[in-house]
Amino acid sequence: MENEKYLFVVSGAAGTGKDSVVKALREAHPEIEKTVSATTRAPRPGEQEGVDYYYRTREQFQHLIDTDQVVEHNFYNGNYYGTLREEVDKRLEAGKLVVLVIDVHGAANIRRMFPGATTIFLLPPSVEELERRLRGRGTETEASILERLDTAKKELAEQEKFTLTLVNDEVDACAEKLYGIIRQRAGLDR
Ligand code: 5GP
Repeated sequence: MENEKYLFVVSGAAGTGKDSVVKALREAHPEIEKTVSATTRAPRPGEQEGVDYYYRTREQFQHLIDTDQVVEHNFYNGNYYGTLREEVDKRLEAGKLVVLVIDVHGAANIRRMFPGATTIFLLPPSVEELERRLRGRGTETEASILERLDTAKKELAEQEKFTLTLVNDEVDACAEKLYGIIRQRAGLDR
Protein backbone atom coordinates (compact mmCIF):
# COMPACT_ATOMS: atom_id res chain seq x y z
CA MET A 1 0.00 0.00 0.00
CA GLU A 2 1.07 3.56 -0.65
CA ASN A 3 2.21 5.31 2.53
CA GLU A 4 3.47 2.08 4.11
CA LYS A 5 6.61 3.98 4.99
CA TYR A 6 4.48 5.88 7.50
CA LEU A 7 3.77 2.67 9.39
CA PHE A 8 5.90 1.75 12.43
CA VAL A 9 5.77 -1.23 14.74
CA VAL A 10 7.23 -0.93 18.22
CA SER A 11 7.76 -4.33 19.79
CA GLY A 12 9.94 -6.13 22.27
CA ALA A 13 9.78 -8.44 25.24
CA ALA A 14 7.40 -7.79 28.10
CA GLY A 15 8.95 -5.32 30.51
CA THR A 16 11.06 -3.41 28.00
CA GLY A 17 8.78 -0.39 28.39
CA LYS A 18 7.30 -0.13 24.91
CA ASP A 19 4.04 1.35 26.17
CA SER A 20 5.86 4.00 28.25
CA VAL A 21 8.13 4.95 25.36
CA VAL A 22 5.27 5.34 22.89
CA LYS A 23 3.26 7.29 25.46
CA ALA A 24 6.19 9.71 25.90
CA LEU A 25 6.61 9.90 22.12
CA ARG A 26 2.97 10.86 21.61
CA GLU A 27 2.96 13.38 24.43
CA ALA A 28 5.92 15.17 22.88
CA HIS A 29 4.75 14.67 19.27
CA PRO A 30 0.96 14.43 19.13
CA GLU A 31 0.97 14.20 15.33
CA ILE A 32 2.00 10.57 15.72
CA GLU A 33 -1.03 8.32 15.93
CA LYS A 34 -1.37 4.98 17.65
CA THR A 35 -3.88 2.37 16.62
CA VAL A 36 -6.35 0.95 19.12
CA SER A 37 -6.40 -2.85 19.14
CA ALA A 38 -9.32 -5.19 19.76
CA THR A 39 -9.07 -7.67 22.62
CA THR A 40 -11.18 -10.28 24.39
CA ARG A 41 -9.63 -9.46 27.76
CA ALA A 42 -11.64 -7.49 30.30
CA PRO A 43 -10.85 -3.80 30.81
CA ARG A 44 -8.49 -3.06 33.69
CA PRO A 45 -9.52 -0.32 36.13
CA GLY A 46 -9.20 3.04 34.39
CA GLU A 47 -9.13 1.61 30.87
CA GLN A 48 -11.66 2.88 28.37
CA GLU A 49 -13.43 1.38 25.39
CA GLY A 50 -12.01 2.84 22.19
CA VAL A 51 -9.09 4.47 24.01
CA ASP A 52 -7.08 1.58 25.41
CA TYR A 53 -8.75 -1.21 23.44
CA TYR A 54 -11.96 -2.18 21.76
CA TYR A 55 -13.28 -4.81 24.19
CA ARG A 56 -15.00 -7.65 22.37
CA THR A 57 -16.45 -11.05 23.20
CA ARG A 58 -14.84 -14.20 21.81
CA GLU A 59 -17.69 -14.47 19.29
CA GLN A 60 -17.31 -10.87 18.18
CA PHE A 61 -13.55 -11.28 17.86
CA GLN A 62 -13.98 -14.45 15.80
CA HIS A 63 -16.33 -12.53 13.54
CA LEU A 64 -13.67 -9.84 13.04
CA ILE A 65 -11.20 -12.54 12.00
CA ASP A 66 -13.68 -14.33 9.73
CA THR A 67 -14.58 -11.13 7.93
CA ASP A 68 -10.91 -10.15 7.47
CA GLN A 69 -11.20 -7.06 9.65
CA VAL A 70 -7.98 -7.76 11.57
CA VAL A 71 -4.57 -7.46 9.89
CA GLU A 72 -2.90 -9.59 12.55
CA HIS A 73 -3.93 -11.21 15.79
CA ASN A 74 -2.39 -13.19 18.59
CA PHE A 75 -3.54 -15.36 21.48
CA TYR A 76 -1.74 -14.29 24.62
CA ASN A 77 -2.35 -15.27 28.21
CA GLY A 78 -5.85 -16.61 27.53
CA ASN A 79 -7.05 -13.76 25.34
CA TYR A 80 -7.08 -12.61 21.76
CA TYR A 81 -5.47 -9.36 20.68
CA GLY A 82 -5.65 -7.97 17.18
CA THR A 83 -4.93 -4.95 15.04
CA LEU A 84 -8.01 -3.74 13.18
CA ARG A 85 -7.49 -3.16 9.48
CA GLU A 86 -9.56 0.01 9.52
CA GLU A 87 -7.42 1.51 12.32
CA VAL A 88 -4.34 1.21 10.12
CA ASP A 89 -5.82 1.92 6.69
CA LYS A 90 -7.74 5.08 7.56
CA ARG A 91 -4.61 6.66 9.06
CA LEU A 92 -2.26 5.66 6.26
CA GLU A 93 -4.74 6.84 3.65
CA ALA A 94 -4.87 10.21 5.44
CA GLY A 95 -1.05 10.38 5.31
CA LYS A 96 -0.60 10.10 9.09
CA LEU A 97 2.38 8.60 10.88
CA VAL A 98 1.09 5.45 12.55
CA VAL A 99 2.59 3.43 15.40
CA LEU A 100 1.49 -0.06 16.40
CA VAL A 101 2.56 -1.32 19.82
CA ILE A 102 2.28 -5.09 19.57
CA ASP A 103 4.08 -8.27 20.51
CA VAL A 104 6.80 -9.91 18.40
CA HIS A 105 4.35 -12.32 16.74
CA GLY A 106 2.21 -9.42 15.63
CA ALA A 107 5.29 -7.62 14.31
CA ALA A 108 6.14 -10.62 12.13
CA ASN A 109 2.66 -10.57 10.62
CA ILE A 110 2.78 -6.83 9.96
CA ARG A 111 6.11 -7.30 8.16
CA ARG A 112 4.44 -9.80 5.83
CA MET A 113 1.37 -7.64 5.24
CA PHE A 114 3.15 -4.29 4.97
CA PRO A 115 6.68 -4.83 3.64
CA GLY A 116 7.27 -1.09 3.60
CA ALA A 117 6.68 -0.73 7.35
CA THR A 118 9.54 -0.15 9.79
CA THR A 119 9.70 -2.57 12.72
CA ILE A 120 11.56 -1.50 15.84
CA PHE A 121 12.64 -3.89 18.55
CA LEU A 122 12.98 -2.26 21.94
CA LEU A 123 15.62 -3.65 24.28
CA PRO A 124 16.07 -3.09 27.98
CA PRO A 125 19.58 -1.68 28.59
CA SER A 126 20.53 -4.75 30.60
CA VAL A 127 19.76 -7.57 28.17
CA GLU A 128 23.41 -8.04 27.18
CA GLU A 129 24.23 -8.46 30.83
CA LEU A 130 21.30 -10.67 31.69
CA GLU A 131 23.26 -13.86 32.18
CA ARG A 132 26.04 -12.20 34.13
CA ARG A 133 23.55 -10.45 36.39
CA LEU A 134 21.33 -13.48 36.85
CA ARG A 135 24.26 -15.62 37.83
CA GLY A 136 25.96 -12.91 39.84
CA ARG A 137 22.88 -12.21 41.92
CA GLY A 138 22.94 -15.70 43.36
CA THR A 139 19.26 -15.67 44.31
CA GLU A 140 17.77 -17.39 41.27
CA THR A 141 17.44 -21.14 41.02
CA GLU A 142 19.27 -22.78 38.13
CA ALA A 143 15.90 -23.65 36.55
CA SER A 144 14.78 -20.03 36.73
CA ILE A 145 18.08 -18.81 35.26
CA LEU A 146 17.82 -21.27 32.40
CA GLU A 147 14.21 -20.30 31.71
CA ARG A 148 15.06 -16.61 31.59
CA LEU A 149 18.08 -17.21 29.42
CA ASP A 150 15.99 -19.31 27.08
CA THR A 151 13.46 -16.49 26.77
CA ALA A 152 16.23 -13.96 26.24
CA LYS A 153 17.78 -16.09 23.49
CA LYS A 154 14.45 -16.40 21.70
CA GLU A 155 14.05 -12.63 21.93
CA LEU A 156 17.56 -12.06 20.63
CA ALA A 157 16.82 -14.33 17.68
CA GLU A 158 13.65 -12.33 16.96
CA GLN A 159 15.44 -8.99 16.91
CA GLU A 160 17.32 -9.92 13.77
CA LYS A 161 14.06 -9.87 11.86
CA PHE A 162 13.35 -6.27 12.83
CA THR A 163 14.40 -3.27 10.82
CA LEU A 164 16.29 -1.93 13.80
CA THR A 165 16.70 -2.20 17.54
CA LEU A 166 16.60 0.57 20.08
CA VAL A 167 17.79 0.45 23.67
CA ASN A 168 15.36 1.88 26.18
CA ASP A 169 17.94 3.35 28.52
CA GLU A 170 15.76 6.25 29.60
CA VAL A 171 12.14 6.72 28.49
CA ASP A 172 12.21 10.32 27.21
CA ALA A 173 15.58 9.95 25.54
CA CYS A 174 14.42 6.73 23.89
CA ALA A 175 11.19 8.41 22.74
CA GLU A 176 13.24 11.18 21.08
CA LYS A 177 15.48 8.67 19.35
CA LEU A 178 12.37 6.90 18.14
CA TYR A 179 10.97 10.18 16.85
CA GLY A 180 14.18 10.80 14.90
CA ILE A 181 13.99 7.33 13.37
CA ILE A 182 10.35 7.81 12.42
CA ARG A 183 10.96 11.13 10.69
CA GLN A 184 13.97 9.82 8.85
CA ARG A 185 12.35 6.57 7.69
CA ALA A 186 9.19 8.40 6.65
CA GLY A 187 11.35 10.69 4.52
CA LEU A 188 10.38 13.84 6.41
CA ASP A 189 13.91 14.95 7.24
CA ARG A 190 15.19 15.46 3.74
P1 5GP B 1 -2.05 -6.22 27.83
O1 5GP B 1 -3.09 -7.26 28.19
O2 5GP B 1 -1.00 -6.12 28.89
O3 5GP B 1 -2.68 -4.90 27.47
O4 5GP B 1 -1.31 -6.73 26.50
C1 5GP B 1 -0.72 -7.98 26.45
C2 5GP B 1 0.21 -8.08 25.25
O5 5GP B 1 -0.54 -8.02 24.02
C3 5GP B 1 1.24 -6.97 25.15
O6 5GP B 1 2.49 -7.54 24.80
C4 5GP B 1 0.70 -6.10 24.04
O7 5GP B 1 1.75 -5.38 23.39
C5 5GP B 1 0.10 -7.14 23.12
N1 5GP B 1 -0.88 -6.58 22.19
C6 5GP B 1 -1.73 -5.56 22.40
N2 5GP B 1 -2.46 -5.32 21.29
C7 5GP B 1 -2.05 -6.22 20.36
C8 5GP B 1 -2.42 -6.46 19.00
O8 5GP B 1 -3.27 -5.82 18.40
N3 5GP B 1 -1.77 -7.48 18.38
C9 5GP B 1 -0.81 -8.23 18.99
N4 5GP B 1 -0.22 -9.17 18.27
N5 5GP B 1 -0.43 -8.02 20.26
C10 5GP B 1 -1.04 -7.03 20.94
